[in-house]
Amino acid sequence: MADFEELRNRMVDEQLIPRGIKDPRVLFAMRRVPRHIFVGEAAQDYAYGDHAISIGEGQTISQPYMVGAMTEALDLHGDERVLEVGTGSGYQAAVLAELVRHVYSVERITALAVQARRLLEGLGYQNISIKVFNGTLGWKEESPFDRIIVTAGAPEIPAVLVEQLTGGGRLIIPVGDRYSQMLTRVEKRSGEIMKTELFPCIFVPLIGEHGWEG
Ligand code: SAM
Repeated sequence: MADFEELRNRMVDEQLIPRGIKDPRVLFAMRRVPRHIFVGEAAQDYAYGDHAISIGEGQTISQPYMVGAMTEALDLHGDERVLEVGTGSGYQAAVLAELVRHVYSVERITALAVQARRLLEGLGYQNISIKVFNGTLGWKEESPFDRIIVTAGAPEIPAVLVEQLTGGGRLIIPVGDRYSQMLTRVEKRSGEIMKTELFPCIFVPLIGEHGWEG
């Protein structure tokens, strides 16, 4: 059997650090979370490769670098309540759970949400809540959030998500057309909204009201 811990450390040393991921807490979390658990048995040997992997239902677990870059862009300090839109495999939620107070994650496909919940409970995470819902509407009952991360590509920034941010909060979201997007940071500062384009990316579509048609 592969030495997953060694593969994980190599992933960080060869894919993340050389591309500029610096936040020591993010690097620590990614050395820790067992990504191979989230990809299904057949793909476990490829889990730490420099690419996205299919997780069924037409969806993917993002490339390790993308998870690292988006997590770093959230600028996490430890006490945040974070909303993730697009639970998928649950891997990004686990990385976040290592770094913040509580992760609220929303997934529209029931089978993925059920599987992610099972895996995350099995790993002992107690600071992750998962709901099957259209995440373009956020999670009103638990809002406001210090940070929001959207892990699917949106045609535009859903205003509802910006509304559900705290003052001083930030949202990281891929925005663009259906097949290519720009990773975008939205900061809410004393009522003002500041948008910054970070770098180009490719995500599966964010489906639903305030997203793409399914
Ligand atoms: N963060 C995930 C991980 O760590 O495996 C990867 C997410 S995958 C790239 C995008 C996910 O967003 C898919 O599971 C998809 O079903 C989900 N999704 C798309 N539109 C959504 C919506 N409106 N609400 C919630 N989830 C959505």
